[in-house]
Amino acid sequence: MDFDLSETQRMVRDTAREFATRVLVPLARTAEREERVRPEVLREMGELGLLAVNVDEELGGVGAGVVSYSVAMTEVARACASTAVTMAVTNMVGEVIAKFGSDAQRKKYNPWLASGETVGAFALSEPDAGSDPGAMRTTARRDGDDYIIDGQKQWITSGAWAGVFVVWARTGEAGTKGISCFLVEGGTPGLKVGHHEDKTGLRGSNTVPLVFENCRVPATALLGELSGGFKIAMMALDGGRIGIASQALGIGEGALDASVKYAHDRRAFGAAIKDFQAIQWMIADSRTDLDASRVLVMRAAELKEQGVAFTREASMAKLFASEAAWRVCNRAVQVHGGYGYTREFEVERFWRDVRVTQIYEGTSEIQRIVIARAALRD
Ligand SMILES: Cc1cc2nc3c(=O)[nH]c(=O)nc-3n(C[C@H](O)[C@H](O)[C@H](O)COP(=O)(O)OP(=O)(O)OC[C@H]3O[C@@H](n4cnc5c(N)ncnc54)[C@H](O)[C@@H]3O)c2cc1C
Repeated sequence: MDFDLSETQRMVRDTAREFATRVLVPLARTAEREERVRPEVLREMGELGLLAVNVDEELGGVGAGVVSYSVAMTEVARACASTAVTMAVTNMVGEVIAKFGSDAQRKKYNPWLASGETVGAFALSEPDAGSDPGAMRTTARRDGDDYIIDGQKQWITSGAWAGVFVVWARTGEAGTKGISCFLVEGGTPGLKVGHHEDKTGLRGSNTVPLVFENCRVPATALLGELSGGFKIAMMALDGGRIGIASQALGIGEGALDASVKYAHDRRAFGAAIKDFQAIQWMIADSRTDLDASRVLVMRAAELKEQGVAFTREASMAKLFASEAAWRVCNRAVQVHGGYGYTREFEVERFWRDVRVTQIYEGTSEIQRIVIARAALRD
């Protein structure tokens, strides 16, 4: 496998790195305080192509592919994980519409999402259906030329700000077969946005429950085929897992950067703490964890880019990178001693932010189920 980046991939990575260093690093704590990514930040991300990296140019994206998306995501997450998850969901929604949408849906929504004038939201989870989306209860019933959506969604990233929601609802039988997918615009009557969740980390990213009450959408809002929604969700999640693995990798890189710097600056017993073997081993273990994550993430991204099956590899990348990044951030707090446990140092934020990468886009347990199923079948 060739992990050398192409010229385009290097350019996307360098663009994301420059933007993250100049704009996101100084604003990361502000985003937490304001509980949002500022609109001007999103607009600049749109101008740089970061909100539609793997969406074709004719739809407003940059068409730079999956590996470019992954490296850009890592650079953004290295600076601000909240901005990274906003970017991840908007890219994912754009990709889903580009792949499954009608011409009219693509023309209407893809350039808008790519521009950063709005963000996308992905509304699959429900209060009683997280790991098991086949248990969802939200319904969409046909009424003349419309569908009427009723039900609740839970944990919807960017739900308070999104211009377009991909919403899954039951149109038929119980289980995974009777689920369809709809595009619902923010502000549609009957779509109510609930309270901001008071989260431990990712505090700059908005997470809300949604209530659909007699929410009427035109039949043209159906995305893909009637009752074909579960397949769309699973395909989107496979790709989304590469995004979250890349996000975890980036958070870990940010924490390791901070650890290396602090190990040089901090002195104890008359020496820089970098000279203690205990600190060196933590740095060595973290570097190894992150390099191993990168190999798995790049492999999954390459496979998706080549258009071959990548479900198992995406789950392996997500499982390993999220758990490795958690170890890295935990060690980073340890390297910082008591200061690592305060808001004065960035590692505290990385440590809070990274935890959810083991939960969303499928928990670690769900990734293990996917990997084991493939391994036992093969
Ligand atoms: C900050 C944040 C943002 C999110 N953003 C979105 C979003 O934008 N859109 C969206 O649709 N969802 C989103 N989610 C939801 C997320 O995907 C779910 O939280 C996740 O899938 C887990 O579902 P759950 O919370 O209901 O946990 P549950 O499914 O109740 O799981 C509880 C525990 O049981 C374990 N478990 C469940 N089933 C099994 C099994 N078969 N075998 C072994 N263990 C099992 C789980 O791994 C977990 O440890 C977000 C969540 C968070 C926290």
